[in-house]
Amino acid sequence: MIGVSASVAGTRPRLLKGRRGFSFALGAGIAAALLGAGPVHGGLPDLSPIDAVRLRQHVEVLADDAFQGREAGGPADRKTTNYIAKALANAGIEPGWRGKWLQPAPFIRRSAVEWRLSGQASGEAIEISPEALVLIGEGKVERIANAPVVFIGHGIVDPASGRDDIGSADLKGAVVLRFAEPPPEYAAGNRPVPDLRLRRALYRSRGAVADIAINDSEDAEFIRLQRGYRLGLMRLGETGPGIGVTGHVKAAAAAPVLAAAGLDLKTMRTQAAMPDFRAATIPLRITAHVETGIRRFRSANVVGRLEGRGRPDEAVIVTAHWDGYGVCLPAGSPDRICNGAIDNASGIAGMIELARALKAGPAPRRSVLFVATTAEEHGLLGAEYYASHPAVPLRATVGGVNLDTIALRGRGAKLGVIGRGLTTLDPIIRDVARAQGRELLDDSSVQQYFRRSDHFALVKRGVPMVMLTGIFSREREKDDAIDRYFERDYHQPGDELEAVPSFDGAAEDVEAALAVVRWMANADVPPRWLPNSPYQRGGGPSAP
Ligand SMILES: [Zn+2]
Repeated sequence: MIGVSASVAGTRPRLLKGRRGFSFALGAGIAAALLGAGPVHGGLPDLSPIDAVRLRQHVEVLADDAFQGREAGGPADRKTTNYIAKALANAGIEPGWRGKWLQPAPFIRRSAVEWRLSGQASGEAIEISPEALVLIGEGKVERIANAPVVFIGHGIVDPASGRDDIGSADLKGAVVLRFAEPPPEYAAGNRPVPDLRLRRALYRSRGAVADIAINDSEDAEFIRLQRGYRLGLMRLGETGPGIGVTGHVKAAAAAPVLAAAGLDLKTMRTQAAMPDFRAATIPLRITAHVETGIRRFRSANVVGRLEGRGRPDEAVIVTAHWDGYGVCLPAGSPDRICNGAIDNASGIAGMIELARALKAGPAPRRSVLFVATTAEEHGLLGAEYYASHPAVPLRATVGGVNLDTIALRGRGAKLGVIGRGLTTLDPIIRDVARAQGRELLDDSSVQQYFRRSDHFALVKRGVPMVMLTGIFSREREKDDAIDRYFERDYHQPGDELEAVPSFDGAAEDVEAALAVVRWMANADVPPRWLPNSPYQRGGGPSAP
C-alpha cells in the first residue's frame, strides 16, 4: 500500500482512527437484487483451505535480507520475479504474457541530490535552509533565476466540485506555491483529491517552471519525505516530462520569506480554504539550483494464467505487488532493509497459494490471471502499466481481487472490504464471510486505501475490483496491533517475518479471496458497478 509519497498524494496518510458505523443508503443485497444480480447461488459458498505454513514459507523467502527489500529495479528485482514465476509454475499456472512470465516495463527514477533556494522580496534575499526544503528536478541540473511566484492556494481544479483555485492566473515562467494539504472539504475525506500528477500536468501546460508545496509535516515526517526524494521518485518511462522543479518547503521556513514579501502565512491559509479562492501573483521572486540523479531501467510484472473452460477469452484478475522499499535507511543504521514482509510479501504469498488451490479444483469457466506487480509503492506504476497493456482486454476482464498487506491477525478477524458499497460483489463477499463465520468490518476509514493499492489502476478504467484483508479488524480502540504496525513497522525495517505473529488470518483472507474469485470466474452475470459508483465501464461523468 502506498503511504507518504509526495509524487502521488502530496499529503500525509491518515491513520486508521474512528468513524465507525458505516451504513449504506441502499442495502447491498437489495441493490444487487434490483440490478438482477441476485440471488447468486443457493446456500453458502464452498471454501477451500489455504495452508498458513506455505504462506509463511513464501514470506520467509521473499522478506529475507537476501532479497534486499525487493526494490523495483533494485539488486533483487530479477531474483524476486523469478521466484514468483517459479512458484506459480509449481502451482500449475501457465505464463500469461505473450507466452512468457515477465511483462517488462520501462521506468525513470529521479533521486534528489542537492538543492538550494532563496526568495527575493523588497530588495532582500532570504536563503531557506536546505534542511527545511526538498527539491527535485526534471533534468540533471535545473536553475530558476528570479522567477515570479503565483500563490495557487491548494492548487485544486476539480470540475466535479466546481472548485478552481487557478482560475485565469498567468503561470508562464512562474513558480507555483501552494499548500501540500488539500482544502478542508477534501481533507475530511468527503471528496477525492484530484490526482497530483494530473494537477501538475495542468500547471505545466499553463507554463509553470516549478511547483513548491508548503508542508505542515512535523520534523520526523519531513525527514521521511526528504529520504523518499533522495531514494528516488519513479514514473513509467512512457509518461511525458513533468514540471522542471518540484518539492516541499516547511511552513516554518516559508513564513519569514513570505513575511518579507508582506504576506502572512495564516491569512494565506484562511484565504486558500475559501471555496472561491483564486490564484494570484505575490510580491516575491524565487531563485533555485537543483541537482538530480536520473536513471532509466526496466522492471517487470509477473503474469500467470489459468485457462478457463467455457469462456477462456474472459478473465478474472488477481493482483498483488511484489515490490518493497528496498535498502531504505542510510548507511550506519542498525537495520537498513525494509523487508516488506506484511506489505506485501504476504499478498504475493496469498496470490501463489490462491492460484494453487484454484488449479487443484474444478477448472473455472473464465480464465484467471495472476498479476504480481512491480513499483506499486511508487504510485501503482506496475499496475498502471499492466492496465494500459493488459494480457486480456479490460472490457473482457470481468472483475478482480487485490491482495495487499494481509498477514497480521489470527483467524476470525473481521473482513475488511476496500471498495465496499460500490459493486454487486458486496452480497457475494458477505456470504463468503458468513460461510467463514466472520463478520464484515464496519469501518469506513479503511476506504482511504481504495486509491492506494493496485486494484485502483484497473478500477479507474472500469474493472470492478475489491481489496480484501482482515488486518484492520481492531481488537482494541487504542494500541491495537494495527496501530503498532503503522506507527513502527509500515515501510520500515521492522516489517519483517518476526513482526508477523500469525499467518492464520492471512490464510483465511486468501480463502475468502479464492471464493470470490471462483464466483467471478463462474457466475452467469459478472460483477457490476452499482449506480452510485463513479467508476462505470466506459467512464461515468466523474470517472477519472
Ligand atoms: Zn506499501
